[in-house]
Amino acid sequence: MKTDELRETYLDFFESKGCVRRPSDLLVPLNDQSVLFTPAGMNQFKEQFLGIGKTDFTRATTCQKCIRTGDIENVGVTPFHMTFFEMLGNFSFGDYFKRDAIHWAWEFVTQKLGIDGNRLTISVYEDDDEAFGIWNEEIKVPSSRIRRCDEEDNFWPAGAPTHGPNGVCGPCSEIFVQLDGGKEVEIWNLVFTQFNRVGVKQLEPLPSKNIDTGMGLERTASVLQGVDSVFGIDILKPIVDAAGQLLGKSPDEEMRRLRRISEHLRTVTFCMHENVMPSNEKQGYVVRRLLRRAVLDAYQLGTDEAILHQLVTPIVEAMKAGYPELAKTAGGVAGSIKAEEERFLNTIDRGMSLFESEAKGEEISGEAAFKLHSTYGFPIELTEELAQQRGVKLDREAYEQSVKQHALDSGSGAFTKELFNVGPIQTLKSTLPTTEFVGYDQQSGKATIK
Ligand code: ATP
Ligand code: MG
Ligand code: MG
Ligand code: MG
Repeated sequence: MKTDELRETYLDFFESKGCVRRPSDLLVPLNDQSVLFTPAGMNQFKEQFLGIGKTDFTRATTCQKCIRTGDIENVGVTPFHMTFFEMLGNFSFGDYFKRDAIHWAWEFVTQKLGIDGNRLTISVYEDDDEAFGIWNEEIKVPSSRIRRCDEEDNFWPAGAPTHGPNGVCGPCSEIFVQLDGGKEVEIWNLVFTQFNRVGVKQLEPLPSKNIDTGMGLERTASVLQGVDSVFGIDILKPIVDAAGQLLGKSPDEEMRRLRRISEHLRTVTFCMHENVMPSNEKQGYVVRRLLRRAVLDAYQLGTDEAILHQLVTPIVEAMKAGYPELAKTAGGVAGSIKAEEERFLNTIDRGMSLFESEAKGEEISGEAAFKLHSTYGFPIELTEELAQQRGVKLDREAYEQSVKQHALDSGSGAFTKELFNVGPIQTLKSTLPTTEFVGYDQQSGKATIK
């Protein structure tokens, strides 16, 4: 099954269960100031879960564009993590609960997608006997394939009762697919959102019991397409291959770098489409960091010209069924990527020489890391990674000290302000091209948006 078909099949299936199809929220969420980027499908529904946001529907289904900055380091390292991915979700606001959510998930995976139930394993929260019972007695998953895990793995957000953010949360149950070679991949998380965390171990029951589920589109597609990573699926492979061609490298030899480059460029393309441009703060800093990391990868593969913007065309092509609107901004996005590539390439040689000479010692000093950042445009995380690759330490504390010292020396604190202050997010949002959902084309099944 093609990825575009999977997206539609999921939304169709949950529509048949009475869920209303809603559009994805923007990557920079409209109503959630607690996160820089939308990390999951549930974020746009927090108020409904809290019982304060009223809608005229109590069941919804979405395909949400997500960005998880916490997974940057995993990209290219694990076969299944990206910074940008699509999360298929179904949601209940005080309507259906655990039993239906579990039964429907099983029906979808085994009947609609045709994945053999014997390949699936299940996790439940340690004391959730109810979920265990539904899986075991009603669905007939043998108890040997159901494991009980603690709050780190089976509460959402992870560890919510004891640490993590306040807000809506609940125990969860996850579905894993066994892969060849004994490994497994987590494809779907079913969250039984029934608490509001107001402090450590302070979980207040929500006014109603809710459901929030998130299925990874690309991971599930990789299972259906029989490929061993998300980078092999029909919508991502062409981008990785295009990166290989552009840089004259084979995806087999330079797998990690080519995966990172193509993945980061896709994330950046989606961000810039929403007008999130490289800067030194907040979302813009993430875009800068991702792009410069890709430029550095390309540089280390022997390219010192600004060429990565050429990947926008294959990215827009690969994503066009789900996101036809990308075509409208593609030219401007490619131009902005090129400008940022050039900015970094202007100083990358001198930055790398400084790094190389520092790396001869045992440690990259705070001063050097600061100079790499302020003069040569190396985000600190990038320098940290270079240091790690080289097996030398980096004095992060001394770096932070240098940042502070510089702000004091320059008197105005302008540098710190630029780096750390809250950006004009509201202004930025008001200029965003919004994606307005109009409906779905009956024949093609495609979303109509404007
Ligand atoms: P993992 O343990 O693999 O990091 P997770 O438990 O952090 O995943 P959830 O927060 O449960 O993920 O998100 C729901 C689903 O979204 C996951 O089951 C997975 O299919 C998908 N997903 C999560 N993170 C990523 C990612 N970085 N790239 C691609 N898909 C992801
Ligand atoms: Mg994770
Ligand atoms: Mg997990
Ligand atoms: Mg999970």
